[in-house]
Amino acid sequence: MTETPTDFIRKIINDDLASGKNGDRVATRFPPEPNGYLHIGHAKSICLNFGIAIDYKGTCNLRFDDTNPTKEEQEYVDAIREDVHWLGFDWAEREFYASDYYQQLYDYAIQLIKEGKAYVCSLSADEIREYRGTLTEPGKDSPYRNRTVEENLQLFENMAAGKFEDGAHVLRAKIDMASPNMNMRDPAIYRIKRAHHQRTGDKWCIYPMYDYAHCVSDSIEHITHSICTLEFEDHRPLYDWFLDELGVKHHPQQIEFARLNFTYTVMSKRKLLQLVEEGHVSGWDDPRMPTLAGFRRKGFTPSAIREMCNRVGIAKANSTVDIALLDFCQREDLNKSATRVMAVLDPVKLVVTNYPEGQTEELDADNNPEDENAGKRKIPFSRELYIERSDFMEDAPKKFFRLSPGKEVRLKHAYYVTCTDVIKDENGDIVEIHCTYDPQTKGGWSDDGRKVKGTLHWVSAEHALDAEVRLFEHLFTQEFPEDTPEGETFLSNINPKSLQVLTGCKIEPSLQVASVEDRFQFLRTGYFCIDSKDSSSEKLIFNRIVGLKDSWAKKQKKAA
Ligand code: ATP
Ligand code: MG
Repeated sequence: MTETPTDFIRKIINDDLASGKNGDRVATRFPPEPNGYLHIGHAKSICLNFGIAIDYKGTCNLRFDDTNPTKEEQEYVDAIREDVHWLGFDWAEREFYASDYYQQLYDYAIQLIKEGKAYVCSLSADEIREYRGTLTEPGKDSPYRNRTVEENLQLFENMAAGKFEDGAHVLRAKIDMASPNMNMRDPAIYRIKRAHHQRTGDKWCIYPMYDYAHCVSDSIEHITHSICTLEFEDHRPLYDWFLDELGVKHHPQQIEFARLNFTYTVMSKRKLLQLVEEGHVSGWDDPRMPTLAGFRRKGFTPSAIREMCNRVGIAKANSTVDIALLDFCQREDLNKSATRVMAVLDPVKLVVTNYPEGQTEELDADNNPEDENAGKRKIPFSRELYIERSDFMEDAPKKFFRLSPGKEVRLKHAYYVTCTDVIKDENGDIVEIHCTYDPQTKGGWSDDGRKVKGTLHWVSAEHALDAEVRLFEHLFTQEFPEDTPEGETFLSNINPKSLQVLTGCKIEPSLQVASVEDRFQFLRTGYFCIDSKDSSSEKLIFNRIVGLKDSWAKKQKKAA
């Protein structure tokens, strides 16, 4: 039992433990359908289900809801396993598949038929839809509703034996065609579908429907609390109907909570698949995708995603969360842990004309001022450096505190320098900036009280590494990309500038030994990590995880 339940689901669980409803057991499951990669919305369900198991010393199963073989693939199963582990959760040996229960599901269906609670219906799909009625009109009974038990048994067995064409018949629950709840109007239990299943092969040509398979799977696994998203609220009576009519020993309680949605993205797997298949992104793990694989590749940490889920909390009403919250959580996490390094994304040469040619010195640099234990490293300084092109202006306005002719600035960890000259090519573009340094300001400080306003990051030209840097923006230009005018789809809101590739970036040499797990703050430009897929020691590629500017905290302040 948790002392003070943090949400309404934990409150229900506390009450159940107090009343002894399930003894002292708490058993949840995370039930993805392996028809795509997990997205950031799933993270919430994972944190909730596994989090409850941890809090209550219960169990959480990983169950693949694999009842739709045409859309499901082993690649997705593997990706889901990897993503749940990455997020920091473990299901030990409790990995299950709805397809493990196909025989039991079939036997239960026979039981329903024998008890007159299910029948084989031979209407076409269109007719079934017509007979179903609408929200305001009751449905009509199928003409096949009163088939005898014997006839139903025979037909159903022949369905399973492959004696009929796909779609020729369905097995339906016999509930109530006039129910105000459409889900209760004799829903389908089994359909004929000749499809190869990634686990059961060609053994079955009939497959159970989701609503039937899900509750039975929960019951077989002795789940106590079957937590799902709000759209299943209207399915709960059916969930209970199946389990009541089957008279199972373990009847889990279905509890619904609100989906997690974010601005500037889409989350339906169908749409994510479309983005991948039509090549709008490079794959499921494209850093712009809202998938866990995408966030991982971009450089997000699992702890930032868990913290975001924590902050959003568990609600009963759907809402959309500002995507900036996710960046905020990531920034907070990295601010504490990321090593500060210098990288110049758009380099221009800075020549220190009074620094001896051929000389190099090693300067001390703090790894992280936020962390006393992070230590220092050495960075090479020499006569020719690179600085950011935007850190220099020839005709600078008064408020420009960076480098301009005659002005003095600090080079971080190094010296004060004063700009003396600008060298241009025949087109008038700046190719070199000249400056002099003050040897008395080593470390970037002056003892004579002289102050400078600007501090520039830099790298030594001779020692710098070349790198490609990838910057990302939202994949969509609109907060709600799915709200489109007639005739358009979410695809028309794709942001053409969502990926910006910078080549010829110059990075300090300590990053040569960076590994995929390392996260860095490039001074003044953001948090970065190595791209796990495309980067190599021959060609370094860094992804920007998040920028430094905190738009979320700013918005919160404004709203307060
Ligand atoms: P999609 O609509 O993207 O296809 P889904 O709900 O069909 O998603 P499942 O694989 O069935 O995907 O989801 C597994 C579990 O994750 C379910 O319990 C589902 O309720 C939950 N889930 C899916 N999307 C979200 C979300 N956006 N927020 C919270 N939980 C979610
Ligand atoms: Mg689903």
